[in-house]
Amino acid sequence: MANHDQLLPDVKAFLSQRPIKMFIGGQWVEAADGATFPTVDPGDGSPLATVAEGNATDVERAVAAAREAFRKSGWATMPVKERAVLIHRLADLVDKHRPILAQLESLDVGKPLHQAEGGDVPNVAQTLRWYADLAVHTRLAEPIAVSGFEATQVRFPYGVAAFVLPWNFPVLLLGWNFAPALAAGNTVVLKPAEDTPLSSLYFCKLVEQAGIPAGVVNVVTGYGETAGKALAEHPDINHMGFTGSPEVGRIIASACGTNLVPVKLELGGKGAAVVFDDVDPTAVAEQLVGAITLNTGQVCCTATRWILHEKVWDPVVLAAKDMMAQIKIGHSLSSDTQMGPAVSEKQRQRILGYIEKGQREGADLLLPGGPATVVDHPKGFYVKPAMLSGNPNNICAREEVFGPVSFVLKFRDEDEAIELVNRSTYGLANSVWTHHLDRANRVAKAMVAGNSWINAHNLFPHGVPYAGCNLSGLGGGVLGPETLFDYLRPQSIVRPLD
Ligand code: NAD
Repeated sequence: MANHDQLLPDVKAFLSQRPIKMFIGGQWVEAADGATFPTVDPGDGSPLATVAEGNATDVERAVAAAREAFRKSGWATMPVKERAVLIHRLADLVDKHRPILAQLESLDVGKPLHQAEGGDVPNVAQTLRWYADLAVHTRLAEPIAVSGFEATQVRFPYGVAAFVLPWNFPVLLLGWNFAPALAAGNTVVLKPAEDTPLSSLYFCKLVEQAGIPAGVVNVVTGYGETAGKALAEHPDINHMGFTGSPEVGRIIASACGTNLVPVKLELGGKGAAVVFDDVDPTAVAEQLVGAITLNTGQVCCTATRWILHEKVWDPVVLAAKDMMAQIKIGHSLSSDTQMGPAVSEKQRQRILGYIEKGQREGADLLLPGGPATVVDHPKGFYVKPAMLSGNPNNICAREEVFGPVSFVLKFRDEDEAIELVNRSTYGLANSVWTHHLDRANRVAKAMVAGNSWINAHNLFPHGVPYAGCNLSGLGGGVLGPETLFDYLRPQSIVRPLD
């Protein structure tokens, strides 16, 4: 593990539990069969903690606890303002414990500490507050104007909202998913990714402190094929939210189809950045390098395909290559680290494997990438950034690499750029870079995806829906005002007038 002296006392104490237990029905519990699994520091490959390994029996307990809490704890029926006070209290506790949550997240994911502390963790508090306030100001009963009847549409929470989430932004995605579900009055059961369970479990300590009733929030840690599958297939969940790969998304959606449970899927992406010839090439290169190296490129919506006008190709490529080659790769807790390791050895091999396959299919390696070695941490899962170019049908131009690997393509006119963007089977997020706002808006509309950004990449303001289409997801996304309604079941009440 990282230098132990760097760890906060609360982090040390948390990690030293054997095992770190799950949070079910307001209790810290071991797995029913006593099983545990290790979580690893990707920065040096050493064991970080031992965590309870939940399976179908534990999922059963968690869903039952959430159901009971929905019916009896008063959470679902309390005035929205009172629920919002509790959620605000939770947000305040997240802020107060930010250094602890950030250190756990940084160690578990391999994410530079300053990103976890300055970005992911504060975002959780902001999201909780945003949805708590929205719920307070949302009318849950709307009269419907219809002749001959008195009619109203009333909205109620669904019941048990289940979530299965990935490892790249564990605590931030917990916030994006829990906040609207809880603000609407549902109870929740989460199965976090097996690679990164720590921040979700620590979050439950804050749930306890906030005075949120037992059973409203439940976290079952374990593997996808066991705990995740059991949760998705459980007949007593009322709503399902999944973030992860399209492959697992299909499995989750099938289970929800069988049980006729509403499901939201937030899946992968192959984001493009279209760069016109009127921009400052160095400034744009800096932004694109920032995007492809953020979280070691393990970002669903990031700019992976750089579609450059032929006139800026040379300066953008040269500047970006230079910046990528110089990026400081290191342990997530080192203060000068700009890019940490991949989350696991499996993920590192996946990234390296893609570069190899891309090269075999004829891509030019403008920057070769490959394994990186960090002095003092020779066993960490480090990779160097890579830049490829070539045929748009190349595997690295089509498939999600999920690493710091950009694929560069050239265009001559706007139509060609749009055609290149829309070749993708994904539809999560793209960006366009130009100072001509008419052109920017035209291209932003023509790129088929849930999100188009102008002169920036990776923007997530609260209140703007963030969703994917095609292979990137279904069900309306997150972060929007409508997301609250995704967790509210509509019910019409009608009376004939005499
Ligand atoms: P993954 O699909 O492998 O795993 C996601 C979660 O599903 C994990 O908790 C895992 O344990 C669980 N799981 C695995 N098999 C399962 C099964 N058979 N039944 C039920 N659950 C199962 O994805 P990942 O590797 O953790 O994350 C990377 C993927 O997530 C990428 O494709 C990325 O683009 C996507 N992602 C999308 C968004 C978004 O907002 N659209 C955000 C973050 C990540």
